[in-house]
Amino acid sequence: MLDLCITGGRVVLPSGVEETDVGIQAGKIARIGPIDKKEARCIMNANGQYVFPGAVDTHVHFSEPGRTEWEGFFTGSRSLAAGGTTTYVEMPLNALPATTNRANLQRKLEAAKGQNYVDYSFYGGLVPTNLHELADLSASGVVAFKCFLSPCGSDIPGDFRNVDLNGLRAGMRLLAEKGQLLCVHAEDPSMISQLEAKLLSPVGADAYVASRPVEAEVKAVCDTLAAARETGCRIHFVHISSAAAIEAIERAKEEGVDVTVESCPHYFLLSAEELAELGPLAKCQPPLRPKQEQAKLWACLLEGKIDWLASDHSPCTPDLKDGDFLTAWGGISGCQNNIDIMFDAAVKRRGMPPEQLARLIATNPAKRMNLREKGEIAIGKDADFAFVDDRQSYTLTKEQLYYKNKHSPYVGRTIGCKVTCVLLRGQTIYTEEKGIIGKPSGELLHIH
Ligand SMILES: [Zn+2]
Repeated sequence: MLDLCITGGRVVLPSGVEETDVGIQAGKIARIGPIDKKEARCIMNANGQYVFPGAVDTHVHFSEPGRTEWEGFFTGSRSLAAGGTTTYVEMPLNALPATTNRANLQRKLEAAKGQNYVDYSFYGGLVPTNLHELADLSASGVVAFKCFLSPCGSDIPGDFRNVDLNGLRAGMRLLAEKGQLLCVHAEDPSMISQLEAKLLSPVGADAYVASRPVEAEVKAVCDTLAAARETGCRIHFVHISSAAAIEAIERAKEEGVDVTVESCPHYFLLSAEELAELGPLAKCQPPLRPKQEQAKLWACLLEGKIDWLASDHSPCTPDLKDGDFLTAWGGISGCQNNIDIMFDAAVKRRGMPPEQLARLIATNPAKRMNLREKGEIAIGKDADFAFVDDRQSYTLTKEQLYYKNKHSPYVGRTIGCKVTCVLLRGQTIYTEEKGIIGKPSGELLHIH
C-alpha cells in the first residue's frame, strides 16, 4: 500500500516531462508510472500542473545566531517552503560568530533545532585564522567549505574574513586531503580596493557597478583555478555574474579541473540599468551587470555552461539598505522566488526544457553537495515536490513574503506562473490556499 499517489501532473523526470503518477511510501518516492488508485491511502490531483523535484538552494544566509533580526531559520525556511525549495545549505557568514570551527557550528546547530520547515545543512568557513581547525570542522558534518577572496562587508570581531592567495592555497591543500569541496566568492580584492578609493560620495548605482568590474571577477576566477590545479582541491564558484568568467571555468572543466559554477536569478532578472531605480535593495556582490552582459550570461545558462542556480538570499534590516551604494549592505532577498521567476523567465519565455530547469535548481546542486536523497524525482529519493502552475500569474507583494524583513527587489514584479503546493518527504508543507502548514519538520542532513 502506498501512503500517497500524486496523479494528473506533468512530472519533471530527469529524462523529460511525463504525464504519469508518482507513488510515495514512508516519505520516499516508491513508484513512477500508472498507479491503480486502490493501492494508495491518499490521492492528490496535480490537475495538469508541473510536478518539479523540491529545489535545493545551496546559497542562503539566515544569519542566526547573532544577527537574528536580519533573518532566521524559522522565517527563512518558511520563505523557502513557500517558494518550492525543500533543502538548503546555509553559509558560514553573517551569523555571529561565523562558522569557522566546531564550537561555532555547534552554536548554529542549536539555534537551528526545531526551527526549520525544510531540510538543511551547513557550510564551514575558510578564513585566514582557522587553518588548524579545518580538519575538525570538516569531520563535524559540514557539506562543504566557503571562502572569500574579497572583503566580506563587515569589520566586527567574530565576523568572516577573506583569505589572500597564500591562505587560499594553504586551505585548499588541507581540504583536498579531506576530499572537501571549497566554494569561492571570486572578486579580486586589489582591483576593487583601487577602484573603490576613487569613488566620490554619495556613490550612485553606475559608479558602484563600475567599481566591481567583470575583470575583477575573471581575475579572481583564474587565480582560484590556478590554485585548484596546483592543490587538486575540488572547487565551486558561487554567484558568478559574467560570461567571461563562465568561459574561463568551462575551459578549466575541459582540462579536467574538478570545478562547478553557480549563478543567481538576480543576474538574469535584474540589470545594472535598473539599479538606480531599484536602489540599494538590489545591491549585491558582484553587482548586477548591464543588459548586454546579461544577454551573454543567458546564453551560457541555456547552453548548459552553468551548473546550478542558487538565491544568495542575503537579507538585512531595512535601515541597512539606507545610504548610498557604497555604504548600504550588499545582499538581495530572493529565496522565496527561486523557482517561479526562473520558470517564467527561462521555461516560459526562452523555451528551456523543464527538465533542464530541474537540473539547475535541484539535481546538480544535490549531486555536488552529496545530498544523496535529494534533487530529482526518481525511485528511492525523498518525496520532495513543488507543483508549478504555468496557467496562473501573479504580482508579488510584500505581504506575500515570509522573510523576517519583507523587502525584495522582486516585489511588484508580475510572475507568469505560481508555486501552488510543496511537499517535504511526502508531507504537504505549503499550499497556495493555506500558506505554510503545520510545525517545522525540516531535518538536518548529516553528510558524513
Ligand atoms: Zn552569499
